[in-house]
Amino acid sequence: MIPGGTYEGIIEGHTSESDVAPEIIEYRASPHRKISSFNGPKRGITSNTAVHELLECPVCMNVMYPPIHQCPNGHTLCSKCQSKVRCCPICRHELGNIRCLALERVAESLELPCKYQILGCQDIFPYHGRSRHEQNCRFRPYKCPYAGADCPISGSIPFLVDHLKRDHNVDMHDGCTFNHRYVKSNPQDVENATWMLTVFNCYGYQFCLHFEAFNLGMAPVYMAFIRFMGDDHDARKFSYSLEVGGNGRKMTWQGVPRSIRDSHTKVRDSMDGLIIQRSMALFFSGGSRQELKLKVAGRIWKEEA
Ligand SMILES: [Zn+2]
Ligand SMILES: [Zn+2]
Ligand SMILES: [Zn+2]
Ligand SMILES: [Zn+2]
Repeated sequence: MIPGGTYEGIIEGHTSESDVAPEIIEYRASPHRKISSFNGPKRGITSNTAVHELLECPVCMNVMYPPIHQCPNGHTLCSKCQSKVRCCPICRHELGNIRCLALERVAESLELPCKYQILGCQDIFPYHGRSRHEQNCRFRPYKCPYAGADCPISGSIPFLVDHLKRDHNVDMHDGCTFNHRYVKSNPQDVENATWMLTVFNCYGYQFCLHFEAFNLGMAPVYMAFIRFMGDDHDARKFSYSLEVGGNGRKMTWQGVPRSIRDSHTKVRDSMDGLIIQRSMALFFSGGSRQELKLKVAGRIWKEEA
C-alpha cells in the first residue's frame, strides 16, 4: 500500500475522557443506485421521464443542450457527438448540419432537477442554469482522498469511507485525540509520495490525517496535516492541532482542516500543515539517526459558532 517506504502507523491510545462520543456512522448504499428507484412516489419526475429520454443523446447518453442536431430522418444527437460522427448512429444516413429547433425549444422550457438529486440535492433549475449549478453542487460526489495513487473512485462520504477501508486498507479510529507514531527504518531515502493516511471518526464526521515524506525544493521534509471529509463550509467549523517533539523540544501546529474538495497535493503544496525538516525529525527520533521514530500527537475540536 505504501510505495517506497515502510512506515508503520501505530495508534498509541486515546485520551478519551474529554472526547465527545463519536456518532455511529451508518454506511448507506452506494451512490451508484439506478435512477429507476425514483419511479415510485415522486410523480412529477416520473411524468417528465419521457421528455428526459427524448433529450438523452443516443451516442454519449448525456442530456442534450442546444444546439441539438438531427439526421434527415429526424434522429437527434448532441452537438459534441455530431461533430465526431459522419453518419447517423441510428439509420447510418449521412448527417449534414440540421438543427432540431423543436426539441431545442422543448429543452429550453424545461426545469430539471439537479443531476445529484440521488445524492440529496433538492434543487430544480431552468435548462441552462443547471450545469453551472452542478459544477458546484454541494451534493456532487467527492473524489477519493487517498493520496499517491491516482484513484478514480468518487462518491458520497459514506461510500468513500467504506471504499478507504475496503480498497486502501486505511486505519479507522474513533475519537478526537490521537497519538500516532511513525516509524521508518531507513530515513535516508526520502522519496516523493511516501505517505500515510489514517481516518478519524469524531463529531459525526471523518477526518483524514495525512503524513508524508517529500522533498521541499532540495530539502527532505516530513509533513502532517488534516483534511475534512465534507464541504469547506463544514470544515471551517473545526480546528486541529498537531504536536511533534523529543529530546526536550517540541513543534506545534494549529490549523483548520481542509475540505477533501481541495486535493491532497494542493494542500501539501500550500504547506498548510506541520512541516518537519528531516534533521529535526531525526533529532526528535533520538538515538542513532538510523531510524525515524516520530510521535505525532493531535486533537480535533469544534469551534464555537
Ligand atoms: Zn452525445
Ligand atoms: Zn437517422
Ligand atoms: Zn445540486
Ligand atoms: Zn480510492
